[in-house]
Amino acid sequence: KLSKRLLAIADLVPPGARVADIGSDHAQLPVYLVQSGKAVSAIAGELNEGPLRAARSQIAAAGLTGRIQARQADGLAAIEAGEADCVTVAGMGGALMSAILTQGEADGKLQGVTTLVLQPNVGEDAVREWLLANGWYLAAERILEEDGKIYEVLQAINVADAGPLNRALYDAVFLPLDRAPEEKREWLIRMGPWLLRQPDAVVVRKWESEQDKLRAICRSLGLSEQPEAQEKSAVLLGHIDTIGEVLACLH
Ligand code: SAM
Repeated sequence: KLSKRLLAIADLVPPGARVADIGSDHAQLPVYLVQSGKAVSAIAGELNEGPLRAARSQIAAAGLTGRIQARQADGLAAIEAGEADCVTVAGMGGALMSAILTQGEADGKLQGVTTLVLQPNVGEDAVREWLLANGWYLAAERILEEDGKIYEVLQAINVADAGPLNRALYDAVFLPLDRAPEEKREWLIRMGPWLLRQPDAVVVRKWESEQDKLRAICRSLGLSEQPEAQEKSAVLLGHIDTIGEVLACLH
């Protein structure tokens, strides 16, 4: 049975897509997508030997060797330009994901790709920044909790005028904080404009737990006499307040 996390990713894949799943590991996502009829074919890209073998055996066990190819490659080197309409990247950090997308874009591998479905484990802000900087329109965001972990899934679409549309989205999303626009933007990127628009109990849980983590850091910084520790602590206390203000607006 597919995990709730992989199901949420699959849900944001457009029907009928040719999918490239980068960092596919066991290829569970492409197998599900092709088996369920959501994708017509798939490429499972994997850097490492062990996971690649796991992908090949899963694909063979599902009887899908004709429709899913497992390829050993670094990032989007797994595909030729025009081979995929939808690229999924899941279960890695946002910084690595952004680096993979940057390299792929530079190599022309995103040509013809209409949809990206991205599930960073950490560093969602880096992924949102990448999308904004590279002309992708952040079209949907999902948040879910599974086995005590919280995951975010981002869907971006490639539209010719993504730049201005994106700007309009970020300008229009109401973040009711009495703060400078730059600071509001920073928090929208961190917390997710769509997640703030459609508040969910999981969003509140995620950010309350983030506040707890920041409070713990502040307590340990408080033990230090160093002026830098005091400054850092003041910044983090500011973050705790800002998160509180945003959450108060969501209820
Ligand atoms: N995408 C699957 C999921 O979400 O369940 C697997 C996630 S797994 C934690 C991350 C996978 O990405 C690993 O199998 C790892 O070998 C692979 N990986 C890491 N860096 C990669 C890269 N640059 N190119 C392709 N695969 C990579």
